Amino acid sequence: MIRSVRGVHDILPAEAGKWRRVEHAAREVFEAYGYEEIRLPLFERTELFARGIGEATDIVQKEMYTFEDRSGESVTLRPEATAGLLRAYIEHGLHVLPKPVKLYTLGPMFRYERPQAGRYRQFHQLDVEALGDEHAALDAEVIAMLVELFRRLGLADRLTVEVNSLGDEATACRPRYRAELVRYLGANAARLCEECRERAERNPLRVLDCKRPECRPVLDGAPALGAFLCADCTTHFARTREYLDALGVRHLVSPRLVRGLDYYVRTTFELTTTELGAQNAVAGGGRYDGLIKLLGGPPDPGIGFAVGVERVVQLLPDAGPAAAGERRPRVFLVPLGEAALARVLPVATALRARGVVVEVGHGDRKLGRELERAGKLGVSRAVIVGDAELERGEALVKEMQSGAQRPVKLAGLVEELLALGGPA
Ligand code: ATP
Ligand code: MG
Repeated sequence: MIRSVRGVHDILPAEAGKWRRVEHAAREVFEAYGYEEIRLPLFERTELFARGIGEATDIVQKEMYTFEDRSGESVTLRPEATAGLLRAYIEHGLHVLPKPVKLYTLGPMFRYERPQAGRYRQFHQLDVEALGDEHAALDAEVIAMLVELFRRLGLADRLTVEVNSLGDEATACRPRYRAELVRYLGANAARLCEECRERAERNPLRVLDCKRPECRPVLDGAPALGAFLCADCTTHFARTREYLDALGVRHLVSPRLVRGLDYYVRTTFELTTTELGAQNAVAGGGRYDGLIKLLGGPPDPGIGFAVGVERVVQLLPDAGPAAAGERRPRVFLVPLGEAALARVLPVATALRARGVVVEVGHGDRKLGRELERAGKLGVSRAVIVGDAELERGEALVKEMQSGAQRPVKLAGLVEELLALGGPA
């Protein structure tokens, strides 16, 4: 037997309903806020991610699926959607549209990570980006929309909204903070894990994100970015929080919330839960005002987030029996013999065209076995056509629950079944 690749999983029919629920809720909520869908390629030129995510990040350093195609060009399976979305925004001149340009996309992402519960090598994200507007009201609206999605799914009460400001590269605040942090991490290097020591040089802010308990005392004592914010960043963060309050979004300021990608500035946020063990982040995002320009586009600011769909699905309760049986066949047509089969096939087509879920036997099995199959499928009604019925121009309609059966004229069968309606 050939098994699936490590860290990659199938979504079986029993689970697919939950996935549809998440995707359906996402489309409804995002579109209510004026977002439009964009569909993007699953792979891009490697340099797009190297530049757009940042050379120093974990993703680019060790998590990308990169290969040369047959012409020798280096391409990479997308580890996240923002870089590709911004590439499309620039390439197709979408910046001429009224701003903010609001886009969403959904689909698989690929990262070579150590597989564990809630962490896969192919996983799925809902990704949302609002481009070309730097007002703090937009930051708040984006976060409120994310919370609304979880409210629709009945999960809002089980999640915490954490927000922080990372300051700005362009103003003095982040470089000043970084220098201070590097000094602090250097002085306490002996009490940090090896990965943290290495990150302290490559990507010092990301060290704050280390989840190892042995690093926590040092990291919890690290200087907080909030104290270093410049006047503009302080105002932007305060405004964002005021608008969040006005929108009724309860949130927690998490001074050490940093995100994995280099390009974030100012507002960053995460939705976390205590229910998924170490993989506690369900969604995360932030502002990335310099990124579009860095990728060769106009100097448009941007803000967005990504939701980890596997983790959301894991939080959802199993659907009740009604929902699970939602697409079960309602009618099982049981022809007994070739002539009967030929007669019922158009009946099946006509019913299906009217939205009825229909299963048809092949005409070569015994009635008892077919009814057993109908029972297992959970259909509400079986329609039996044998030679005797065919001769009389009739079918036998059998209610599976009660076992009651009665003859119905074949000529009026479709209308009769439609009139009988849904499951008894
Ligand atoms: P983490 O700290 O869990 O590695 P991250 O900062 O790498 O998360 P993002 O790049 O912000 O994650 O992706 C947004 C969301 O996508 C995460 O909050 C998480 O729910 C989900 N996610 C990220 N990586 C994976 C993965 N390997 N498998 C499943 N879901 C993932
Ligand atoms: Mg990660």
